[in-house]
Amino acid sequence: MKDALKDIEGLGLTAQRQTVLRVIRESDEHLTANEVFEDARRLLPSISFATVYNSLHYLKDAGYIAEISFGNGASRFDALTSRHDHAICTKCGKLVDMEIDLPPEVVNFAAEFSKFKIDSIELTLRGLCPKCSK
Ligand SMILES: [Zn+2]
Ligand SMILES: [Zn+2]
Repeated sequence: MKDALKDIEGLGLTAQRQTVLRVIRESDEHLTANEVFEDARRLLPSISFATVYNSLHYLKDAGYIAEISFGNGASRFDALTSRHDHAICTKCGKLVDMEIDLPPEVVNFAAEFSKFKIDSIELTLRGLCPKCSK
């Protein structure tokens, strides 16, 4: 994690934006803005929710983080900005990153069905995580 910190310091961001980016990169979860705020406050007690919120949008626009939303509940923020897929637990909300290569038939079918010229497809699996399915 030391290297990640050094990388962040080299970006020339304000202390607040660095803190927000650090929280997201050091987390294994996909945090909501509220959760980012809770963690950021521990590192930088003077930070306000509005600043966290603005920093999240700045960092997203600058391409350092990705915002994901599953249509229900709050958006979450992701340190992984390249294309990837997610599995989400319908009981506890646990979110796992995955990278799945879709067979070309699936992509072709989706393109034909939607009549879209497809740039990317993201897959979201919903179900019970190992803990919840026990
Ligand atoms: Zn679960
Ligand atoms: Zn993700």
